[in-house]
Amino acid sequence: MKQSICLLGATGSIGDSTLDIIRQHPEKFSLFAVAANTNVGKMAYICDTFRPKVAVMGDSESRDELARRCKGLDIQFEWGEEAMCRIASAAEVDQVMAAIMGFAGLKPTLSAIRAKKRILLANKESLVTAGKLFMDEVARYGVTLMPIDSEHNAIFQCLPQDDHGFSKSHVSKLLLTASGGPFKDWSLEDMKKVTPSQACNHPNWSMGQKISIDSASLMNKGLELIEACWLFDMTPNDIDVVVHPQSIIHSMVSYEDGSVIAQMGVPDMKVPIAYGMSWPNRITTEVAQLNLMDVATLDFSQPDLVRFPNLKLAADAWFMGGTAMAHLNAANEVAVDAFLKKQIGFLDIATINARVLNELPVFPVTDLAKVFEGDRIARKLAQTFVQSGKYL
Ligand code: NDP
Ligand code: MG
Repeated sequence: MKQSICLLGATGSIGDSTLDIIRQHPEKFSLFAVAANTNVGKMAYICDTFRPKVAVMGDSESRDELARRCKGLDIQFEWGEEAMCRIASAAEVDQVMAAIMGFAGLKPTLSAIRAKKRILLANKESLVTAGKLFMDEVARYGVTLMPIDSEHNAIFQCLPQDDHGFSKSHVSKLLLTASGGPFKDWSLEDMKKVTPSQACNHPNWSMGQKISIDSASLMNKGLELIEACWLFDMTPNDIDVVVHPQSIIHSMVSYEDGSVIAQMGVPDMKVPIAYGMSWPNRITTEVAQLNLMDVATLDFSQPDLVRFPNLKLAADAWFMGGTAMAHLNAANEVAVDAFLKKQIGFLDIATINARVLNELPVFPVTDLAKVFEGDRIARKLAQTFVQSGKYL
C-alpha cells in the first residue's frame, strides 16, 4: 500500500532529498502535507510540482502570499505551529519526516508520535532537548522511530534487527564517525578569523546553514552523541567519536566478539532517507554506487577537544542530565545565529555554549514545560552574552 507522507521542513536540504525520493517512487509514496517557515517561493514550486493536500507556513503573511501564488490549485493553506501539529497527526498520514531546523521542530514531532505515525527523525534538536520525554512517548505509543541522521541510520543498519526495530545484543560500543568539518586541521589562530561562508562550506555534505556551522564547530557531533545516547539507550562512555574525513563510513557498531560492522556509501542523505521510508525493505535512490578504488584511502583519528570544545560540552550536558541538554542546544542556536549575522566570531560559539551550560541551574525534565523553560532561559542568557560581548 502507498505510504502517505507529511514533510515538515519541506523547503530545506532534507526536504529536497525527501521530495526526490517521493518523485522517484510515485507507486510507493504520496505527499499529503508540507510545512516550512517563510520560504514562499520554494514552497510555491513544491505545491505546483507535488500537489500536496495541505501546505503550512510559519506565519499568516507567508501563508497568504503562498495561497496567492498557488491560486487555482486544490490545496488547503494554513499557518503556525498548531497547523503543523495537525498535519503531523492527520489521519491520512502514515509517515512524518521531521526535518524542521532546530528546537522549533519539537512540538510537531511529538504530535506525530502521539498519533502513532512512523517518525523519520532528521530534527536531532528535538530529541536532544526533550530526550527522555521524547523516548518515553515513543515507547508509550509504540511508534517506529527511524533515525535519518546518516550516522544513526548507519548504526541502526549495523545493529541486529527484528520486526520492531533493533536490539543491542552482544554490542560493546558504537563508533560515531565525524568528518572533522572544514577546519579539521586549522590552528586556533586561523579559526578565530573564520567567516560564515567558510564555515558553511562542508567538505563532503551539502546541508542547511545551521547544521553546516554545527559540523564545522563539532557541535553537530556533540548533538549526535546525545542523539545516539537517547536512540540506542547508551551513555557517552559507550560511544567513541572517530574522525574520518572521507565520510564514506557513516558509523560502526563494535561487538563483544571483536567484530566491527560498518555501513558505507557515497555521502548522500537520500540513502538514509530512502532506508527510513522503506524499512524493513530497501528501494532505489539514484545515488551513485560507492567505488572503493576511487576512494582508495580511509583515514581515522581522534577528535581534538581543545580546538573543538563543543563535543566535550555535549558529553558534559548528557551527564548533567535534566534541562542541561536543552540549555546547551538553545545557547548554540543563539550563538550560531549570531555568528551567521557576524555579531560574534567562530570560536565564540563554543565559549558562549560553555558559559550558558555551566552557569544555569539544571532541573529534572518532569514535563515538557521544563524543556521549554530551560530553552527560554538559556536563549535569554546566550542573547545577553551576544549583546554585551562580555563572555570571555
Ligand atoms: P535547512 O536549513 O536546509 O531547512 C530547514 C527547514 O526547516 C526549512 O524547510 C525551513 O523553512 C524549516 N524551518 C525552519 N524554522 C522553522 C520554523 N520555526 N517552523 C517551521 N519550519 C521551520 O535544514 P536541513 O534540511 O539541513 O536540516 C533540517 C534538520 O535535519 C535539522 O535539524 C538538521 O540538524 C537535520 N539534519 C540535516 C542533515 C542534512 O544533511 N541537511 C543531516 C542530518 C540531520 P524555511 O525554508 O521557510 O525557512
Ligand atoms: Mg549526521
